[in-house]
Amino acid sequence: MEVLKTRTIMTKSDQGNRWFGIDYHMNLYKGCPFGCIYCDSRCEAYHIDNFDKVKIKENALDILEEELKSKKLKGVVSFGTLSDPYNPLEEKLELTRKALELIAKYGFGVSIDTKSDLILRDIDLLKEIASRNSVIIKISITTYDDELARKIEPNVISSTRRFEVLETLRQNDIYAGVLMTPVLPFLTDTEENILNMISKSKQADAKFIYTKMGMTLKTNQRDYYYNALDILYPGLKEDYQAVYGNKHICNSLQFRHLMELFLKRCSEAHLLTDMDAIIEEYKKEIPQNEQMSLF
Ligand code: SF4
Repeated sequence: MEVLKTRTIMTKSDQGNRWFGIDYHMNLYKGCPFGCIYCDSRCEAYHIDNFDKVKIKENALDILEEELKSKKLKGVVSFGTLSDPYNPLEEKLELTRKALELIAKYGFGVSIDTKSDLILRDIDLLKEIASRNSVIIKISITTYDDELARKIEPNVISSTRRFEVLETLRQNDIYAGVLMTPVLPFLTDTEENILNMISKSKQADAKFIYTKMGMTLKTNQRDYYYNALDILYPGLKEDYQAVYGNKHICNSLQFRHLMELFLKRCSEAHLLTDMDAIIEEYKKEIPQNEQMSLF
């Protein structure tokens, strides 16, 4: 396993409260083995070589503890924006679990994006943090269709299992919902998919579904995606090229219709869809200058 040297773990969010109210970003792992064909962490701007192979950061937990101790603002720390924090190595290494223990100890909140059921191992810690601070879990699901998911997310548990994970989190009173990003033009941008995603999210007692009804296609990310399309769906790459050219933001051609349908059905199902509303519902006032006496 490759070990990388690093001097910092947490970075202050430059998006303010616009992206799930996150105050700090953190990636304990570099790279991700889940193989999603659309993954935007492959894009050149993130400088992650050999993305599918997971690397760990040397002394990550020691550095994290020093940073948590020294931060003046005790905000929400995000796990998993560039790599899934519950990749298979985590089962043995427990970096994410130990980081959650530190977050609980120093009185921070947490936001986690994942496609893995390994998060269920840490329900005790998530409940402990949630008893004092803000916790939001986003289970990433792009299609209700297990067969399609197996093709576009080859090393990930089925969508059905991900909805079960969501349901278990909710049964434990953890604030959680569905991150339905990306929506892939010509593949997952169908009424059938959107309506099934809403009904399955509702059945799992999701608090929200968030989507932008489109995808990004940036340098490197586009090459990987198009190579995968050539294998899985010959001819589809050419459709993308004809419609989107070199655009980085590729919204569904049915954006308006699908978004109207999505918002209407989510509203009827009492599922939040608006970023500000989600933040307002989950984010608590975090006590400052206080170290929790846990563990
Ligand atoms: S789980 Fe997330 S980080 Fe990992 S390959 Fe899929 S989209 Fe990328």
